[in-house]
Amino acid sequence: MPDQALPDCLFCKIALGAIPVERIYEDDLVLAFPDINPQAPQHLLLIPKQHLASTREAIAEHTPMLGRLVAAAAQVALQKHLQNGYRLVINTGPDGGQTVHHLHLHLLGGRPMNWPPG
Ligand code: 5GP
Ligand code: ZN
Repeated sequence: MPDQALPDCLFCKIALGAIPVERIYEDDLVLAFPDINPQAPQHLLLIPKQHLASTREAIAEHTPMLGRLVAAAAQVALQKHLQNGYRLVINTGPDGGQTVHHLHLHLLGGRPMNWPPG
């Protein structure tokens, strides 16, 4: 695909393979890869392959993808031996602390998590 046809979205570029990542898990709807700036011993990101900016834009037609994200996270957690637990996080919008505007599910594990989050 020529560069000018690439979407102007970091995670779309990752999903398309234009930016290489370790593809930890992949199916037709979802891709999982390590976060570049891990906040826990295990920190993976799970993204839909189709662009969706955030949960604010989620509508009924996204339900299969949203379910698949969580099911894939559970599978990746097993693969990463996180049987003691983990945290799934979706940051949405400025107050949610979202910095990349392609919906993503953080899977964090390998240490106890604090509550409430910051
Ligand atoms: P947010 O703050 O939007 O919920 O999370 C965005 C996440 O994407 C951050 O945890 C950040 O470290 C991660 N991230 C940003 N740029 C890249 C990148 O180029 N590659 C990977 N693997 N992760 C990234
Ligand atoms: Zn995107």
